[in-house]
Amino acid sequence: MLNSNYAPMTICTAKRAICLNFLNKVEVLSNYEEVVKSPSLTVSLPSIIKIKDYVRYDNLSVDLNRKNLLERDNYTCQYCGQKKMPLTIDHIIPKASGGKDSWDNLVAACRSCNQKKGNETPSSANMSLRKKPKPPNRLHYFQRFVKEKQNDWKPYLFMEPFKIN
Ligand SMILES: [Zn+2]
Repeated sequence: MLNSNYAPMTICTAKRAICLNFLNKVEVLSNYEEVVKSPSLTVSLPSIIKIKDYVRYDNLSVDLNRKNLLERDNYTCQYCGQKKMPLTIDHIIPKASGGKDSWDNLVAACRSCNQKKGNETPSSANMSLRKKPKPPNRLHYFQRFVKEKQNDWKPYLFMEPFKIN
């Protein structure tokens, strides 16, 4: 979903995109080949929608949640560097010591590293982080969702220039 100024805002479900289009809140810029069918209606599946009324939006922030955090850390334990499932979320400075729920205090950690670290800081547990955690860049975040089917998204995410017809 793009803001009215074409800034990428969010990725929404097909259901939401179709509803917003029915409510005339958005303009559909591109559709997938697939259609959605009901007994009486066939609707194209929107790929890119642009809202009609500009929304004030902090376009640099990505929602802090488990999925986005694991995504940022590439589903890799930030202590041992292994992609060991199940991954947990570790508070670098433990909550008990005043550690916050924030992008720079949360990392993906495998269960054994998380257990080993326990309620300590990395230095007191004698463990080190592979990299300094920071908030993800929104554009990079969206770029990860681009598969072959989403080639139409690329110009809007600055991954390739617009084709001028
Ligand atoms: Zn680990």
